[in-house]
Amino acid sequence: MQSFAGLLTINLGAVRHNWRAMRAAFTGPVCGAVVKANAYGLGYAPVVHALFSEGCRSFFVANYSEAVDVKKLLADRADIYVLQGCPEGLEADFVRSNIIPVLVSESMLRRWFSVTSNAVEARCAIKVNTGMNRLGLSRDELIRWLRDGAVDTKSSVTLLMSHLACADTPGHPLNDLQLQCFSEVLALARNVFPDIKASLSNSAAISLGAPWHFDLARPGIALYGGREGVSSLVALRSVVTVSLPVIQVRSIKKGEWVGYGASFCASADLTIATVGGGYADGFIRAFSNKAFAYFSGVKLPLVGRVSMDSCVFDISSLPPELMLREGDLIEVLGEHCDITAQAELASTISYELLTRLGERLQKHYVETE
Ligand SMILES: *Cc1c(COP(=O)(O)O)cnc(C)c1O
Repeated sequence: MQSFAGLLTINLGAVRHNWRAMRAAFTGPVCGAVVKANAYGLGYAPVVHALFSEGCRSFFVANYSEAVDVKKLLADRADIYVLQGCPEGLEADFVRSNIIPVLVSESMLRRWFSVTSNAVEARCAIKVNTGMNRLGLSRDELIRWLRDGAVDTKSSVTLLMSHLACADTPGHPLNDLQLQCFSEVLALARNVFPDIKASLSNSAAISLGAPWHFDLARPGIALYGGREGVSSLVALRSVVTVSLPVIQVRSIKKGEWVGYGASFCASADLTIATVGGGYADGFIRAFSNKAFAYFSGVKLPLVGRVSMDSCVFDISSLPPELMLREGDLIEVLGEHCDITAQAELASTISYELLTRLGERLQKHYVETE
């Protein structure tokens, strides 16, 4: 049925490839995967199964309800970490379902150990704030707890974590400062928990180099084809392709206008195509007069404002034999329209584009290696 809905194609072969590429770039022993927010909008089930089949055994989600969704897919075959930790009252649920909270504040940590002290198998991770000031115990809180409280815990603390604020900016002074702080508290933590593992790197931090790697990597965006902060030496593949159908082609004269607000004025006679897909599909309004599409190797600039259900491209540069017709599909994200490059044009990041891809797009999964 032709409905003028856009197509969203998700290449699970590329997700596998990207995970292998991150694992190869990571010098530590274990590469995990961040699959929060429905695997960055691409769907838990297909993404988690693809990563699991490549050998990924450590998955990170944002909250408990996401963990429950992933747990249904994996049972106890992999570790599931909850980055925002354990809210009050859910401790028993975490323990019962063998989901690992990342304890992010002193009060959360103390509560966890007061409630779980009798649970034999109650693994947890601890996050220390090393300078981002978002989540995590302060360095001093952690050091005090290691000195005073930690010895009483039967429960196993298996992982110490922190997160970099500027990993996508190599050479930023915070990267060194955070590394120093993390190394210091890790050494103290290992006096109390000799087997504790350490994790500091997201996708971009893997490209910062081995000193930032430690034992367990947490790449997210790179798996889904986002290149923010990832070295060009890592050959990532495009995962998401969004193609929008042409609804109408028209000619306009020099001096005529396009779209709401008449924000685009033609500087010459043009041929333009209106396609089905707009900000309700995640093709955000900030793309207005900035983003582009590709058709048969020809780059087509977006002209005028993006509407809710449609937007307009200048197709004047297409040779006559490639002239677009109703129903033809043009790529707006994908191999030729790199998601990170498109995001930059709209002053945003690929993370935001991925997690906002609209429900109206017709979703297909493919396995092209
Ligand atoms: C989202 C997140 C990651 C993954 O980061 P990417 O930049 O997507 O690789 C890793 N660690 C934490 C704590 C996160 O919140």
